[in-house]
Amino acid sequence: MSDSSLRVVWVYPDLLSTYGDQGNVLVVERRARQRGLSVERVDVRSDQPVPTSGDIYLVGGGEDRPQRLAAERLRRDGGLSRAASNGAIIFSVCAGYQILGHEFVNDLGAREPGLGLLDVTTVRGEGARCVGDVLADIDPHLGLPQLTGFENHQGVTHLGPTARPFARTVFGNGNGTGDGTEGAYNDTVFGTYMHGPVMARNPQIADLMLKLALDVNALPPTDDRWYEALRAERIAAASQPA
Ligand code: GLN
Repeated sequence: MSDSSLRVVWVYPDLLSTYGDQGNVLVVERRARQRGLSVERVDVRSDQPVPTSGDIYLVGGGEDRPQRLAAERLRRDGGLSRAASNGAIIFSVCAGYQILGHEFVNDLGAREPGLGLLDVTTVRGEGARCVGDVLADIDPHLGLPQLTGFENHQGVTHLGPTARPFARTVFGNGNGTGDGTEGAYNDTVFGTYMHGPVMARNPQIADLMLKLALDVNALPPTDDRWYEALRAERIAAASQPA
């Protein structure tokens, strides 16, 4: 942790915030403050350099053109990649997830290089866009309960050998490969197709990012009755797809 504050960096709110994923920043901040941690939130627009001294980086979803611009600027800037090599924790959603991989198909139909921070490659799905509720069993190694989110993507993401699936879908498409995988992660970099914002639905994900950033096994408990009621409601909804 840098100085005495946890630095939470929200990458490119001007390009990657179409789907409400900025809520993840609010949840990480709140969960940290509830544990008595002081938090410095840094919003980095796409015309600014990404600082390399952050503890947790959050990257959201976006439409196809902003996604291409974001990938171009992140490659040119290099800050997020340097932060990753310094061991920073990165949590990304949908377009952000695709950008962190090796490549994706951009709005012009061309293969766009990503940052290669996750061993995944995204192609354009030939079938219908994946839209709807997701119910997923998270990789047991991560110690998280069954989670829910909302997906909305055309891309289909294939995992390479060094990426582990973040979750297995009970309902929904996830990576869209038909193998039941959802998202991907390695030791410090996470990607998911779940919007929601996913951390508002499942604050356990925010807690996991905090534990990894602080290098601790547990955090002081919080009163999560409201979140649990929301989670139960969304699990019931996802279990009865329209
Ligand atoms: N443009 C990407 C896709 O459709 C990502 C969409 C999103 O972030 N929801 O696959």
